[in-house]
Amino acid sequence: MTTTAGPRTNWAGNITFGAPDLYCPASLGELRGVVGRARQVRVLGTGHSFNDMADSPGAQVSLAGLPLEVEVDSAASLVRVAAGLSYAGLAGELDRRGFALRNLASLPHISVAGACATGTHGSGPANQNLSAAVTGLELVTADGDVVELNRGEESFPGAVVHLGALGAVTRLILEVVPSFQVSQRVYEDLPLDVLDDHFAAIMASGYSVSVFTDWRAPRLTQLWIKSLAEDGTPEIEGEPWFRATPAPAARNPVPGLPADNATAQLGEPGPWFERLPHFRPDFIPSAGDELQSEYLIPAEHAVPALHALHQVGEQIAAVLRVGEIRTIAADELWLSTAYRRDSVGFHFTWIPDTVAVLPVVTLIERQLAPFAPRPHWGKIFTTPTAEFYASYDRLPDFLDLARHYDPAGKFRNAYTARCLGR
Ligand SMILES: Cc1cc2nc3c(=O)[nH]c(=O)nc-3n(C[C@H](O)[C@H](O)[C@H](O)COP(=O)(O)OP(=O)(O)OC[C@H]3O[C@@H](n4cnc5c(N)ncnc54)[C@H](O)[C@@H]3O)c2cc1C
Repeated sequence: MTTTAGPRTNWAGNITFGAPDLYCPASLGELRGVVGRARQVRVLGTGHSFNDMADSPGAQVSLAGLPLEVEVDSAASLVRVAAGLSYAGLAGELDRRGFALRNLASLPHISVAGACATGTHGSGPANQNLSAAVTGLELVTADGDVVELNRGEESFPGAVVHLGALGAVTRLILEVVPSFQVSQRVYEDLPLDVLDDHFAAIMASGYSVSVFTDWRAPRLTQLWIKSLAEDGTPEIEGEPWFRATPAPAARNPVPGLPADNATAQLGEPGPWFERLPHFRPDFIPSAGDELQSEYLIPAEHAVPALHALHQVGEQIAAVLRVGEIRTIAADELWLSTAYRRDSVGFHFTWIPDTVAVLPVVTLIERQLAPFAPRPHWGKIFTTPTAEFYASYDRLPDFLDLARHYDPAGKFRNAYTARCLGR
């Protein structure tokens, strides 16, 4: 087992972890020992969250040194994966065996366990978040025991999006589907008012659709449509589509960044894992130098919410790199941001200036308040504890589950105190 001492940060560099030591066990036995001995402990995935959720007042553990197994059960359409594996590491392996995941986030660099812990999502009105594919979990609990949880058990929907508060997840079982081909096209300059009457149609015009805006002008900067290759594309090349124009060359969604960092566009079909994310695994995703926030609201409020945000567009634009709007299908996972709500996500990639960004984050929360926004667990928000209880009716049951697996609160930290009140 290796141990790293001294200051370490998350991917964005806005959080310096307070945990004095990072342990990297090389086996399940070593991990059980670290967790069992620690007074306080949290697991660090790939550190792509923008807040302190992966920090610990005691030990921090990375599972990247555990064997990165991928075991496909073709007959059952399931894959069992080591928690520390990234989606980039998993996707190629799955595709080689003829399988795919239904959807991916905008980047494949994140760990499977870390992404599922926060309800990370991609887009598509029929696509649930990535955690919804989980059918089983293996967990090292506070006393070092290994527990298996499976779909069908009463508390399983409470354990999948767990914010790192139940234990160290060592393996996950995910549903897979036959591998598929996707093509993506980017359109530019869609007038914002088109969304008033056509929001649902536009968001459903492909398998996964993202719209980008800088909140500066009454138009969208880009519209990314990822279509199943068998469905073709929603336009005839060169023709305006909903008054947007097809981009003549590949684009990066973040203004000013090179298209080389982004996945292939211009309608060229390719495997699911090379089209569903916006960013390629071999480049730094997004801008790198940034913060992020995101709020999920019920899909039916998308247009009024858009108008509410447009009212404060100037304040948003002043600290923004780019904004993105996506759709996420409802699920039954107690702490999922799409729990029992077909959702629209309003995402903000900010400049890397916490002091300037935080008041705008609070302003957005105020504007979205009538629509019961749920902040992305892994991004920046200023939502008070009471609002989490108002938003998630199973939160008390989740706390019971956490008490069951972790009675002494070993996996609690400042983040869980802020969000969950303990
Ligand atoms: C450039 C960029 C783009 C992004 N795009 C998207 C996007 O498209 N969609 C979206 O929804 N989000 C997106 N995110 C947010 C990101 O997906 C989430 O923050 C995700 O949780 C990060 O995964 P991670 O492996 O880095 O987890 P970490 O940030 O390391 O950890 C997240 C939480 O999971 C816990 N955890 C991690 N592994 C384990 C484990 N094995 N056992 C127990 N607990 C564990 C940690 O303790 C922590 O509480 C993006 C982030 C970045 C930096």
